Amino acid sequence: MTAAAEIRTTCPYCGVGCGVLARVEADGRVAVRGDPAHPANRGRLCSKGAALGETTGLEERLLHPEVRGSRASWDVALGLVAGRFAEAIATHGPDAVAFYVSGQMLTEDYYVANKLMKGFIGSANIDTNSRLCMASAVAGHRRAFGADVVPGCYEDIERAKLVVLVGSNAAWCHPVLYQRLAQARREHDDLKVVVIDPRRTASADIADLHLPIRIGTDTVLYNGLLAYVAEHDELNASFVERHTEGLGEALAAARAGSPDVATVAAQCGLATEQVRRFYELFARTERVVTLYSQGVNQSSSGTDKVNAIINCHLATGRIGRPGMGPLSLTGQPNAMGGREVGGLANQLAAHLELGYPAHRELVRRFWRAPRVAQQPGLKAVELFEAVEQGRIKALWIMATNPAVSLPDAGRVRRALAGCDFVVVSDCVRDTDTTRLAHVLLPALAWGEKDGSVTNSERRISRSRAFLPAPGEARPDWWIVCEVAKRLGFREAFDYPDAAAIFGEHAALSAHANDGTRAFDIGALAGLDAAGYERLEPVQWPATRARPEGTARCFVDGGFYTPSGRARFVAVVPRPPAHAPDDDHPLALATGRVRDHWHTLTRTGASPRLSAHVVEPYVEVSPDDAARFGLADGGLARVISAWGEACARVRVSSAVSPGAVFAPMHWNDRFASAGCVNRAVNPATDPVSGEPEFKHTPVRLEPVTAA
Ligand code: SF4
Repeated sequence: MTAAAEIRTTCPYCGVGCGVLARVEADGRVAVRGDPAHPANRGRLCSKGAALGETTGLEERLLHPEVRGSRASWDVALGLVAGRFAEAIATHGPDAVAFYVSGQMLTEDYYVANKLMKGFIGSANIDTNSRLCMASAVAGHRRAFGADVVPGCYEDIERAKLVVLVGSNAAWCHPVLYQRLAQARREHDDLKVVVIDPRRTASADIADLHLPIRIGTDTVLYNGLLAYVAEHDELNASFVERHTEGLGEALAAARAGSPDVATVAAQCGLATEQVRRFYELFARTERVVTLYSQGVNQSSSGTDKVNAIINCHLATGRIGRPGMGPLSLTGQPNAMGGREVGGLANQLAAHLELGYPAHRELVRRFWRAPRVAQQPGLKAVELFEAVEQGRIKALWIMATNPAVSLPDAGRVRRALAGCDFVVVSDCVRDTDTTRLAHVLLPALAWGEKDGSVTNSERRISRSRAFLPAPGEARPDWWIVCEVAKRLGFREAFDYPDAAAIFGEHAALSAHANDGTRAFDIGALAGLDAAGYERLEPVQWPATRARPEGTARCFVDGGFYTPSGRARFVAVVPRPPAHAPDDDHPLALATGRVRDHWHTLTRTGASPRLSAHVVEPYVEVSPDDAARFGLADGGLARVISAWGEACARVRVSSAVSPGAVFAPMHWNDRFASAGCVNRAVNPATDPVSGEPEFKHTPVRLEPVTAA
């Protein structure tokens, strides 16, 4: 057997969206390397991407449909799914069913799932696990820019003179982007890096300044920055005058709560000189990029935090030009693609608004849809609450493991256990969620399926198959379409391949765009299968007039609000939803480790990746370890008002007294009682619906031998 040709595809892990060259070797092993021609990574890969070849085995795979634990034919399984969904809809109405989908799905999969639920079933009860990572950024973009648009691109990081990382451990969570930043830092003495994070993470290793901010006080810090630039005459008056509205109200709110540097420092738990240095750097540096991620978004005031950051870029006019702008980093490989097709419960496809009758009518006509959803559906946490309350009679979970990844995970498990009918389509056989399903549908995995993804800088890249489909596994889009056909929607879901779905998605984006929306990939609407196969990475908007794509938006203003002006948002800081108390005096933040992805279903298959961190841990300051009788290397119970988990204690001065950190990856398959999300509170941001993973009051108790 000779080695096959190298195939250009895209890494399925984080939102950096690195290009990968993959080849099946003569001995059957999969070899990967970074694609030197891909603009996101230029040949680099991180540890997770480099180990992709170790995770393509079939040992853990779901290879055949199953009904209640027994192997079934596709026809029987699909017929049962369609029958139970039809029955629930007929008896209880369309809002009695729901889909919970995933940023792991390809855009084409997402598109048909959204089309089926919102256009044909007639409910908007489709939400995504991307709600857990970037919904606050989406809501913040929409409030400020009138549309969900990331203004800049990765190249801006290398062209900046100041890069601020807020709530982002990019060194571990977006490693290739961090490598690009670290290289730029080495090559340019005048590039400064500021890291704002309650923990001293690996990302602070290259920082000129680390601000170990008190959890939940980001808006105080950024309101103070807005007040500071105004006070020190660093506003870009011309930009503000021509392209924005609402500065007065935002500034009044900022001055009221964050009147001076000393007050801000006291509220944020920082030294006055630290805050002053950050403010001076920001105020005096023209080319500033602010990278932000889950540390900002995963909060009950996440949307306000996003807008507090954007306010400062608008006030200084630092947006839309090379080397500057706010840049939200998405967690998943296709969180952005899901946003494009309306994968969130409050969106329609192509960035159209569910709340506008004209938009609903446009989509109805384009799809020839019988019943378009009339109102927003349930967001992730609400959706599982509705399952628990019995309002959702049939639930289809695609490519995700909510029994581990959602907050208050014990409640999610109870909800699934009590649901009338749960379907899971996934590539893995045994997860905490598949154990609670009535029907399992085998989906193709990375390397086996064709489609596209969009990364954090709006760049659409192809994901290409280079492995044969194993067993009876099928593409997600095929599975959704087969159910849709059995629900009576044969004509609208009769696609020959992923290319045809992508073509329809692109055509809708152009058809829908009357000049008031950024998302337009009309240039790709006419692609045939061969053109789709050859598709090179391209950043949207990629319109018929500008097919080469767009690196930066808002170059000349041109925001998507009714006035065409960006909106300042007056932000009044709010504390986290649940304050620590005598029973639960510590603030738990959950997050990720360098070499694992989500709930370990893939990276857990790699011994090399698993060796980095072998078990769940909880990181605690030396002061709190002494206070609660915890020994480094011992075991502790992490106990909140919602549940508890068990983890190895790491005593570290990287976390501040009063705070604890625990990674979220482990599940019951890999560590008994290791699922820390059992303890995480289910509070959400009222605007975005994103959960507050970064602040749950807990106590730690040492586990002693019986
Ligand atoms: Fe994959 Fe992200 Fe690593 Fe790139 S940085 S190789 S996309 S995990």
